[in-house]
Amino acid sequence: MIVKSVYELIGQTPLIELDVPVAKGSRILAKLESFNPGGSVKDRLGISLIEAALKRGDIDKDTTIIEPTAGNTGIGLALATQKYHLKTILVVPEHFSAEKQTLMRALGAEIINTPRAEGMQGALRKSRELANQIANSYIPNQFENSDNPDAYTRGLGQEIIDDLQANNLKLDAFVAGAGTGGTFAGTAETLQAEYPELTSVVVQPEGSILDNQPEHPHRTEGIGVEKVPPFFKKLKVDEVQTISDDEAFNYVKQMAQDQGLFIGSSSGAALAASMHMAEKLPANSTIVTIFPDSSERYLSENIYD
Ligand code: PMP
Repeated sequence: MIVKSVYELIGQTPLIELDVPVAKGSRILAKLESFNPGGSVKDRLGISLIEAALKRGDIDKDTTIIEPTAGNTGIGLALATQKYHLKTILVVPEHFSAEKQTLMRALGAEIINTPRAEGMQGALRKSRELANQIANSYIPNQFENSDNPDAYTRGLGQEIIDDLQANNLKLDAFVAGAGTGGTFAGTAETLQAEYPELTSVVVQPEGSILDNQPEHPHRTEGIGVEKVPPFFKKLKVDEVQTISDDEAFNYVKQMAQDQGLFIGSSSGAALAASMHMAEKLPANSTIVTIFPDSSERYLSENIYD
């Protein structure tokens, strides 16, 4: 196969059946989103946000794109804005992975850091401040923009259905983490339409607001909502699985040692939640989860220690 650009390589990621001891003879299939060219599920989002805004006429060739991001969206957006030669400023809370920030810069984006204590809300405030100062600027605002879940309906959701059908499997549970909630909402919407009996499970780190405990910081990166995502309003969410950092990082290590798979901590949490769900679901269930990115972008955070 010869492709003409990296953009043709976004999507159509592999679905892997994990060789792990799942309860009750069930199977866990994980969508390996690190196989996207920018290394995460967010490549799907970046190109969708930019192309939807261009189509609507919300942006033109002289627009500056500004976005608060934990990193993977920044890389996905920087790839997309490179395609359309758009100036890009990404506002990243200072504690997020150095590797992601390096990659954003390599793609040509400018990075502005905000204090850790202010979380994503601080990055959002700073983005708005910049947008007020810069003429012809546009904040895609992944936290509120309905283009976010839409980025996953036809792609990620449909790819899962196609792969299951090609293997004569039906789906019993969909398990995925939520940061903005876009991946979960868009994919779950498509899967619920195809499989009305589906159990849909959101994964959160301990300390997120969905945890019914006092909020606190966590090491698991990319998931943990700071308010209930607007995309969840019309969506059926059957269960929230809360996973500790220790459990998520144990699976990160186990996947490298046993399966030769490099996964980030949000993938570790997604796997932990899938294992717990297998205990609750009927025997011989098929569970699909999303592995959003690879451990390679967290090596400076000693992910394997
Ligand atoms: N995992 C990682 C590593 C991420 O970067 C993100 C995006 N913040 C997610 C999971 C969650 O994706 P979403 O924002 O679509 O909920």
